[in-house]
Amino acid sequence: MKQPRKLLNDCFLHDKDRLRHDDVLTLLRERISTVTGTETVALEAACGRVLAQPITAPRNVPLSDNAAVDGYAFRHADFKEVGGWFEVADRVAAGHIRTTKMPRQTAARIFTGAAMPEGLDTVAMQEDCEPHIQNDRPYVAIPPGLKHGANCRKSGEDVLEGTTVLVAGDSLRAQDLAAIASLGVGEVMVYRKLKVALLSTGDELLRPAPGVAPQPGQVFDANSFMLKGLLETLPVVVTDLGVLADDAKLIRETISTAAAGHVMILTSGGASRGEEDHIITALDELGQRHLWQLAIKPGRPMTMGQIGNCVFVGLPGNPVAAFVCFLLYVRQIILSLQGSAWRDPVRFPVKAAFAIGRKKPDRREFLRGILGRTEPGTLSVTKFDRDGSGLITSLREADGLIEIPEAVTRIEPGDTVSFIPFSELGLPSR
Ligand code: AMP
Ligand code: MG
Repeated sequence: MKQPRKLLNDCFLHDKDRLRHDDVLTLLRERISTVTGTETVALEAACGRVLAQPITAPRNVPLSDNAAVDGYAFRHADFKEVGGWFEVADRVAAGHIRTTKMPRQTAARIFTGAAMPEGLDTVAMQEDCEPHIQNDRPYVAIPPGLKHGANCRKSGEDVLEGTTVLVAGDSLRAQDLAAIASLGVGEVMVYRKLKVALLSTGDELLRPAPGVAPQPGQVFDANSFMLKGLLETLPVVVTDLGVLADDAKLIRETISTAAAGHVMILTSGGASRGEEDHIITALDELGQRHLWQLAIKPGRPMTMGQIGNCVFVGLPGNPVAAFVCFLLYVRQIILSLQGSAWRDPVRFPVKAAFAIGRKKPDRREFLRGILGRTEPGTLSVTKFDRDGSGLITSLREADGLIEIPEAVTRIEPGDTVSFIPFSELGLPSR
């Protein structure tokens, strides 16, 4: 009698021979270079773009010494001579200046941000001063104890003329725009946005829309929306090519056309070696495959290659795997193609509030982690309680990824684990 075949759990096969996470990163780091051209854009359109030219300060910020508080400006050296009693000889508000020297031993009423009148170097806060009128002239009593230069912002204390403030490859954040604006620079040279074609594959997939009802066996296309949202955190222009059926010819033709007009094609689904998976075949026929089958979980079937000059990334169909692979690899690929400097996410050592009895060696696992506080002052992380890589809920509840290295096979509560907050991967926190 024929024996039933031993069950194979393909997910656990050959992790030793698969490309490891660190090797994938090394490969990407070495191979990917800037492909996009540059353009000059107005500063108001530059948020999130990658700088193509360094920015050097053409002047000091602040330009002039100025008051840090509302109060009275005086010359510190005069204090002893007048015993803290100053005649108030001028009034200077922000945006207005006094160009001539103040008469000796006088103070100026001054407001936050106003340039210090020439010769004055110290400001007393108005709350500490006593103004009064004597013989129809205004005076102020300034208390003792103020240090020379108190409450005065020095010219160049934020940025000195000639300093390199940002370098090519920096991604421009809101605070970088503030820095550039403060220099008086109103436009910047950045890399052009990357054209990315996005598509989902699967006979079962259905695009959600008002009035669209699923037939039994159908699955709504969640990945396109998730991936488009992730792409839009980066400087890209997305062409949404929709959902393709598991049809080898259709997939090949669509990818071939898209490769001609895009710098990157990003697909999800159909990237394994099943009979209904046509992505690998299409890539092999049209171009070269550089990666396939990674020693990671989730995300093993991720593939990467090129069709002519177009980078091709085939993500797994499972939403969790697609999400994790996007954050770990695709994001960095896109940034590198855009001239951005390589930046590894910061890992935070956090106490595990969970256990793993047995993990396969030779592969790296990225669990969805939820932060919590077990004892006051201690941060701990727990993993989402179910493992399925179709569970979109897990992505919503997680604060980041717990990274379990290849060699670790078990985790006890209280062990220190590496936690990568989503913010380190370019996502806003919850
Ligand atoms: P595949 O990678 O094509 O074998 O798909 C793996 C699993 O992911 C299957 O359960 C698919 O139904 C599911 N899946 C594939 N593409 C999507 C998508 N765009 N949205 C939601 N689920 C998907
Ligand atoms: Mg499929």
